[in-house]
Amino acid sequence: MQDERMDVFLNSFMMKQTDFLTNLEEECIKTQVPVIRPQMQSLLRFLITLHKPLRILEVGCAIGYSSILMAEHSLEESHITTIEKYEKRIPLAHENIKAAGFEHKITLLEGDAFEILRELEKPFDFIFMDAAKAQYINFLPDVVRLLNPGGLLVSDNILQEGDLLESRFAVTRRNRTIHARMREYLYEITHHKQLETVILPVGDGVTLSVRK
Ligand code: SAH
Ligand code: MG
Repeated sequence: MQDERMDVFLNSFMMKQTDFLTNLEEECIKTQVPVIRPQMQSLLRFLITLHKPLRILEVGCAIGYSSILMAEHSLEESHITTIEKYEKRIPLAHENIKAAGFEHKITLLEGDAFEILRELEKPFDFIFMDAAKAQYINFLPDVVRLLNPGGLLVSDNILQEGDLLESRFAVTRRNRTIHARMREYLYEITHHKQLETVILPVGDGVTLSVRK
């Protein structure tokens, strides 16, 4: 959403990540695996440090970058559960989590998040939503159910590269479903009785929701 010069300027203040994460980010970019952007990295580090969640859930692991980042910045006794369905990414995620030394701290659940979320029972203090954008709205009921009072829901990529504010007719046909569902998601989380939500035009757009 911000212009490119602003991004470059803001990114110049970012704290360096560990060498492990820097290399992993490079690998993601090279192999076209999605990975959170620098401003989202900062925001996640900040929120994890501020909120000190013990039980963290991530929807959309890819090959482990953001879960490893959260593992690095959370408390020793915190635990991260992350979900990934893409078979090609699952072994790479396991490999990276092991190589980062976080096998004890990160549990990777393999399969479709919609099915897995339905089965989960024990609530979380922090949920990072970073899977297929068109599905956020389908995940929402279980995500709210799984969020402790005072718990934080962070949703990434909610501005759809800026498409979200365009009319649906200005958006390519391929992106129209995402467009409609993401607008619905934003409406739901900003008007949800159990959530207090703020929309931030950071990176590709982020919402922070706290469970009342
Ligand atoms: N959080 C990661 C990037 C995630 S990219 C990081 O920053 O390192 C989004 C991931 O969500 C993709 O790997 C995709 O395969 C996965 N995904 C999309 N829809 C899903 C679903 N319904 N269930 C499980 N994983 C899903
Ligand atoms: Mg994302």
